[in-house]
Amino acid sequence: TQFADLGLAKPLLKALAEKGYKEPTPIQAQAIPVVLQGKDLLGIAQTGTGKTAAFALPILQRLAEDRKPAPRRGFRCLVLSPTRELATQIAENFKAYAVHMGLSVHTIYGGVKYGPQMKALAGGIDVLVATPGRLMDHMAEKSAIVSGTEIFVLDEADQMLDLGFVVPIRKIASQLTKNRQNLFFSATMPSEIGKLAGELLKDPVQVSV
Ligand code: AMP
Repeated sequence: TQFADLGLAKPLLKALAEKGYKEPTPIQAQAIPVVLQGKDLLGIAQTGTGKTAAFALPILQRLAEDRKPAPRRGFRCLVLSPTRELATQIAENFKAYAVHMGLSVHTIYGGVKYGPQMKALAGGIDVLVATPGRLMDHMAEKSAIVSGTEIFVLDEADQMLDLGFVVPIRKIASQLTKNRQNLFFSATMPSEIGKLAGELLKDPVQVSV
């Protein structure tokens, strides 16, 4: 399989060629067509399998296919990540793949000042990668409004559980519109994570590598 066979458009194929990616990894080959169709996805995959591109590439394509301004103080796509380091890596991946697309990508995490994050949020963001705690703080301050989110990604769900983020995740998810697309990734499926996936996902396609 080649990236072009998966239905990815030219600006993404160009970015992938520039990154030196020759062909999709197994999770990418399985997940990209499903996400492009707008379906919910449950992905069982570890870091190192190429799972970030497996969701970032089709998300960018969907956002570009239906271009519209991001909601003020909101975002079209929300990716929740357990740590600042992972959030930064995910955002760097999105930015690299989006170089020829003109879509905005930002991160929000704790331990740094609020001001610059509020400023970034104010005008609206295409893709926001956030840790749950700091996003909840912005929601409480009304500097972030999540209701307009079209695509919701939960990455490293089992790590989220270990870090005590299941309650904040349920809170955030409860404020999202019902007709959103959901992508859920975890390396393992402890029962509590299976339960959370069942609550958040609608008829998901399951992919495991
Ligand atoms: P991830 O599992 O998303 O953390 O990705 C692991 C590493 O593989 C990252 O450094 C990616 O840039 C790289 N990568 C992802 N997909 C591909 C691919 N199709 N070909 C080559 N490298 C890739």
